[in-house]
Amino acid sequence: MIRFESVSKRYAPQFDALRELSFELPTGEMAFLTGHSGAGKSTLLKLIMLIERASSGRVIVNGRDHGQLKGRQIALARRDIGMVYQDHNLLDDRSVFDNVALPLVIAGMPPRDIPNRVYAALDLVGLKHRAKAFPQELSGGEQQRVGIARAVVAKPSVILADEPTGNLDPQLAVEVMNIFEDLSRVGVSILVATHDLSLIARFKHRLLTLQAGQLVADSGAVA
Ligand code: ADP
Ligand code: ADP
Repeated sequence: MIRFESVSKRYAPQFDALRELSFELPTGEMAFLTGHSGAGKSTLLKLIMLIERASSGRVIVNGRDHGQLKGRQIALARRDIGMVYQDHNLLDDRSVFDNVALPLVIAGMPPRDIPNRVYAALDLVGLKHRAKAFPQELSGGEQQRVGIARAVVAKPSVILADEPTGNLDPQLAVEVMNIFEDLSRVGVSILVATHDLSLIARFKHRLLTLQAGQLVADSGAVA
C-alpha cells in the first residue's frame, strides 16, 4: 500500500513541487496518475522510491514511514518496490535472463534459487522462450515486457510505472496493462503515471490528477 498524508515537496525556497498531497492506494489496487508536464508526477514517484524525501507530511509505503528510514533500511524498502520505465532501461550486453535476474543478484539471492524466479517472471509476461535472447533482438513491446519481468522478479508489493506505454502502439499498450491487472489481482499495488488519455479511458481504474503540485481530482473511472 501507499499512503500520503499532507505531503509537500519543496525544491527551492519559494517553490513547492507537491503541495499538501493526501491519498491512499490500498494493497491490490491499481490507479493511474496523470497531469501536465511539471505537475509533479515524477516527484511523487521519487518520494515513493526514496529518491527524494518529503519536506513535510508523511509518506508510508508497505507500512514503512519513509521519514524514519535510514541507511540499510532504505535499500530494503526500495527492494519492495518495482519500477517500470518508459524506455525499459535494459542492459544491451546482457541476455534477457541476466537482465531479469539482476535485482535478485543485487539482493544477494543464492544463485541456485535465481533461475526459477526468473522463469516465473518471464512466464508472467509470456517471454519464457526468449530468455537467451539479447534486448536488441526483441520488439519494442517484448523489451517493455522484459522490463516488467525485471520489475516483478523480486516480488515487490508495489509497482510504479512511469509512462510504461509511451513508446508502444495501442495494442501493445493494452497487453502491458493486462499484465498490470493480473498483478493487481494477486495483491500488488500499482501506480501508473501516464499522459495516455485513451489508455485511461479504456481501463476504468481510479485516476489521480495532479495540477501544479496539487491533487485536483481522485476519481474511480473515466467515461
Ligand atoms: P512531472 O513529472 O509531472 O512533469 P516533476 O515532478 O518532474 O513533474 O516536476 C514538478 C515541478 O518540480 C516542475 O516545476 C519541475 O521543474 C520541478 N522540479 C523537479 N525536480 C526538481 C529539482 N530536482 N529541483 C528543482 N525543481 C525541480
Ligand atoms: P535445466 O537445464 O535443468 O533446465 P536451468 O538452470 O536452465 O537448468 O533451470 C533451472 C530451473 O529453471 C529448473 O527448475 C527448470 O525447471 C527451470 N527452467 C529452466 N529452463 C526453463 C524454461 N525454458 N522454462 C521454464 N522453466 C525453466
